[in-house]
Amino acid sequence: MAHDGAMKKIVIIGGGITGLATAFYLQEYARGAVDYTLIESTPRLGGKIASAHENGFIIEGGPDSFLAQKTAMLDLCRTLRLDDQLIGSNSAERTTYVWSRGRLHPIPEGMMLMAPTMVLPFLRSRLISWHGKVRMGMEMFIPKRVKDEDESLASFVRRRLGAEALDKIAAPLMAGIFAADPEKLSLQSTFPRIPEMEKKHGSLLRGMMEKKRAQARHGSQHKCPPMFMSLYGGLQDLTDAIFAQLHPKSFRLNCRVLTVRPHADQYRIALSDGSCILADDVIFATPAYVTADLIQQIDPALASKLRAIRYVSTATVSLGFKRSDIIHPLNGFGFVVPHSEKRKITACSWSSVKFNHRAPDDCALIRVFVGGARAESLAEQDEAALVHLARQELHAIMGITATPVLTKAYRWHRGNPQYELGHRARITEIEQIAAWHPGLHLAGAAYHGAGIPDCIQSGMKTALEIVKKLAHANSTYRDVPLPVSIQA
Ligand SMILES: Cc1cc2nc3c(=O)[nH]c(=O)nc-3n(C[C@H](O)[C@H](O)[C@H](O)COP(=O)(O)OP(=O)(O)OC[C@H]3O[C@@H](n4cnc5c(N)ncnc54)[C@H](O)[C@@H]3O)c2cc1C
Repeated sequence: MAHDGAMKKIVIIGGGITGLATAFYLQEYARGAVDYTLIESTPRLGGKIASAHENGFIIEGGPDSFLAQKTAMLDLCRTLRLDDQLIGSNSAERTTYVWSRGRLHPIPEGMMLMAPTMVLPFLRSRLISWHGKVRMGMEMFIPKRVKDEDESLASFVRRRLGAEALDKIAAPLMAGIFAADPEKLSLQSTFPRIPEMEKKHGSLLRGMMEKKRAQARHGSQHKCPPMFMSLYGGLQDLTDAIFAQLHPKSFRLNCRVLTVRPHADQYRIALSDGSCILADDVIFATPAYVTADLIQQIDPALASKLRAIRYVSTATVSLGFKRSDIIHPLNGFGFVVPHSEKRKITACSWSSVKFNHRAPDDCALIRVFVGGARAESLAEQDEAALVHLARQELHAIMGITATPVLTKAYRWHRGNPQYELGHRARITEIEQIAAWHPGLHLAGAAYHGAGIPDCIQSGMKTALEIVKKLAHANSTYRDVPLPVSIQA
């Protein structure tokens, strides 16, 4: 390793938000006194964050928003002076619909995740049958689970609220976020508060009611903060802003990392342009299956554990229409489609309602989701087939027959990591093995959360670990101030 006083060499593999956040915070914490190179295989930085501006539309290819509750994204925006660009989702139109038995049903008011907390709107709703409603109401009397081990979303919901609540609410809304199969999705790793609530209150309904009462006591229901946030010009403004802060010599685009091998007490990173770099620290901000291939020479057992993290393919299709061509009132954020409906799309966002500035005033932007764990092959079709499929489904569900004024499809081959049963234990094991290799760091969506704020947090934590380690060996890095979100 480089000795005290000598600059350590750091290589970051992958220029998505995780790699970019790592680079940014390395620069910040080490106050510029750090020698790093970020290597990205494609010609652009941002990874799955991709916003396109076309004819007055702002189209998001991957993520379109982030959860405001998780603060790492907000903190980063403030540091980058993007806070005046932050926009909230349109709270006045926050209804989400569920496609069921030939029509769109609004999710009843008061539904918190999958638990109804308001009696009348729930009873009046035609989304759930009377039998299903009675079964959901019985949740209060179902004894809590004694076992402490991980449970799938499907098993939990079926056990506590019944099969209909799973099919029509929990699976499309909650497993849908992860493009996951609810029978395999780990509750502990995706919605840890739900099993905790069962443990504490003996019932999800009682827990949610208690939460609602606590919110009312603190007056927070009046503020009704936006659930989702984005940036005025699209989320790529974030990755572009980080890019603008990076030293021009600190990144290489269009350059794929081929292998990472031990070399004396460093790592030798071979690149697709024929060159190689020696590094003291290597951050893998790549999907776990890419990291597995790169790490194979160093630790085949670790590689095999990383490969066990499954990824599924998804696609998004954005269609712009003249507003006058759509009869539907577009009075909400969009809809989800239960698997039992056997349709070809899983969800649809009314993007120009969810956020302002997404379409010209006389137009509407609609985004359709295809693929995921239970319909992967649909997402692998070419762009023309995806657009055709999206138009057919919008015709069947929303009655839209007009020709769109804009179409754009994005395919995300193996784009979504799956947090399957036992995920937490698997990641603990992976991190324990990785810790045997000083200087190797794993970061990104595969481990402790796949949302943008989670990825930023992961990059930030990695940068901090490295700078703290450097501080022990080199006086340049001492007295690094800890950011608030890490202290917490
Ligand atoms: C369709 C879709 C919708 C989503 N919606 C939301 C949302 O609304 N809100 C939210 O918070 N999250 C959402 N997510 C999740 C979120 O977008 C991702 O988890 C996050 O962007 C992943 O960032 P990352 O940097 O870890 O990975 P990536 O963005 O995948 O970046 C990895 C980078 O590594 C590069 N790379 C790969 N191999 C190599 C190599 N050998 N050498 C060099 N570089 C390499 C890739 O080109 C890529 O740029 C969504 C994801 C998808 C797919």
